[in-house]
Amino acid sequence: MNIILTSIDYILNQSRANSLWPLTFATSCCGIEMMQTVASNNDIARFGSEVFRGSPRQADLLICAGTITHKMAPVLLRLYEQMAEPKYVIAMGACTCGGGMFTETSYSVIKGIDKIIPVDIYLPMCPPKPESLIDAIRKLQKEIGKESVLKRKEFLNKHTQRLTESCGMLTDEINVTKLGVL
Ligand code: SF4
Repeated sequence: MNIILTSIDYILNQSRANSLWPLTFATSCCGIEMMQTVASNNDIARFGSEVFRGSPRQADLLICAGTITHKMAPVLLRLYEQMAEPKYVIAMGACTCGGGMFTETSYSVIKGIDKIIPVDIYLPMCPPKPESLIDAIRKLQKEIGKESVLKRKEFLNKHTQRLTESCGMLTDEINVTKLGVL
């Protein structure tokens, strides 16, 4: 029985890994590099990921290319939630991974999209070249190849737990500030 289930898992994982459909989603300069990845000299079609979709309901890969501001955060979350499971996320660019050059100077930029949605692959450069994005997709494909439902569940639970903890810290901070004011 185990052999049959493992074989089914393998076939499903390989099919998923080699037909990732990215959502068309770019918020700033990194998006230009993402577009270049589809062009003929990089040709992301070699890895089965050239079908960029306009609707999150038809996509299973979110390449978050560019800065995410607090105003944009609910939109990012909604798009992620509208994608069907199993879905994957690549954080493309230093800004997306941790705030990048805006970490110290901007009040409006989210310092890492993993504060909102779970991230599978981090690609922190400014900007990452198309070759780097292809490399990230290849790494994601390898991860998907080894995936199981249980592993995926663990990964998502970890993210939820981390979010809950950071919300708790945030609440504590707010309480301390309130007490200070009082
Ligand atoms: S990482 Fe660099 S290229 Fe990418 S969005 Fe930020 S500033 Fe632009």
